[in-house]
Amino acid sequence: MKYLDEYRTPWIARHILTEINNNVTRPWVIMEVCGGQTHAILKHGIDQLLPNKIELVHGPGCPVCVTPLELLDKAIAIAARPEVTFCSYGDMLRVPGSDHDLFKVKSTGGDLRIIYSPLEAVKIAREHPDRQVVFFAVGFETTAPGNGMTILQAEKEGLHNFSVLSSHVLVPPAIRALLSLPDNRVQGYLAPGHVCTVMGWQDYEAIARRFKVPIVPTGFEPMDILEGILMVVKQLEQGRYEVQNQYRRSVKREGNIPAQEIINTVFEVADRNWRGIGPIPASGLRIRQKFADFDAERKFPVSSIYPREPEICISGQVLQGLKKPKECTAFGKECTPEHPLGATMVSNEGACAAYYKYNMARVGRI
Ligand code: SF4
Repeated sequence: MKYLDEYRTPWIARHILTEINNNVTRPWVIMEVCGGQTHAILKHGIDQLLPNKIELVHGPGCPVCVTPLELLDKAIAIAARPEVTFCSYGDMLRVPGSDHDLFKVKSTGGDLRIIYSPLEAVKIAREHPDRQVVFFAVGFETTAPGNGMTILQAEKEGLHNFSVLSSHVLVPPAIRALLSLPDNRVQGYLAPGHVCTVMGWQDYEAIARRFKVPIVPTGFEPMDILEGILMVVKQLEQGRYEVQNQYRRSVKREGNIPAQEIINTVFEVADRNWRGIGPIPASGLRIRQKFADFDAERKFPVSSIYPREPEICISGQVLQGLKKPKECTAFGKECTPEHPLGATMVSNEGACAAYYKYNMARVGRI
C-alpha cells in the first residue's frame, strides 16, 4: 500500500533492531505516551522483538481513558435530559460511568447520536432549532482545533441551541506530572506524533532538560516506533537528554500555527482531573468565558456530581506506567472488552484493550 508499506518493511525493521541491539548496554525503561502507539507495538509484536534490556511501559495517551469520571457522569446526566440531543463519538458510549454508560441512556429513550465529525453536531443543531444539541468533545491537543471550530461556527451562525461538553487534556503537563512521581521509572519518552504535529515540540524541550530525559516525537507505524526507540536508546547510552524529532514527515518544531490560533481563541488552559491519575495543574483546556453560552457545563445544572470508581480497577496505575494490564486481577476475567470495568478496556486506544486483543490472540484465548 503506497505511503504505508515503506513503514512496514521487514528488512528495514531488522536493520533498526540490529542497531538497537548494538547500542543498548544497560536496562532502560521507555514510555510511549499515545494509545495508538501502544496498539501498534502490541499488534506488530515490537515488544517481543526488543532486547530484554528495554522495557516499554504504556502512558496516559488515550483521551477516552483519561476523561474524568465526573465529566462522564455529567455527560450521562445531560444526555438523559428530554430537551437534549447528545452527539458523541462512538467510543465514548461504552465507557462506564459511576452507575451506567451512555448506551444505557440511548437504550432507555435518550436522543443520542453517534457522529464522525465535529461539524456534524453543528449541522444537527442547525436542522433542529427546537432541540438543545450538545457535543461531547473529548481529546488531546490533536482534536481541539476541530472541536473549537464547532463553537466558532455556531457563534457565526447564531446557533444558541448548540453547546460543547469539553474534555480536552494536554500532554506536556501529564509527562511532567509522571516524571515528578516518587516512584517514576521512566527514563525516556516517545512523544505522540499527532499531538506534536499540532503543537510542535517546544514545550518538551524544558521537560527534557529539567528531568534529564530524551523525548522523541514519534509516528505510529512499526518503522516509526522502532526508529523512535533507537533514538531514545542512543541518547540514553550517550548521556544526552534532548528533543529529537523522529516524525519528520509531519512534525515541525513550531507545530501548526493556524490550528494553535483556533485553540487559543476558544479555549484557555486550566487545571484538569485525569481519570485514574487525579488532578494535574494546567493540564486541560476549558472553554473561555467569552463563549460561555456554548459551554454545556455552564448551560446545564450538573455541577454537583460525585463519582465512584470500581475498586478492583488499577487503570490509574496502568495509565501512569506503574503496572501492566496483566497485573490486574480482573484482566480477561471480570473485565473484558465486552464487559469492561475501566476505561482502559473500553477504548480502542486503551492499554488493557490492546493487551486483550493482541496478547490473548497470541496465546489463542480469543
Ligand atoms: S483490566 Fe479492566 S479492571 Fe483491570 S485495570 Fe484494565 S480496565 Fe481496569
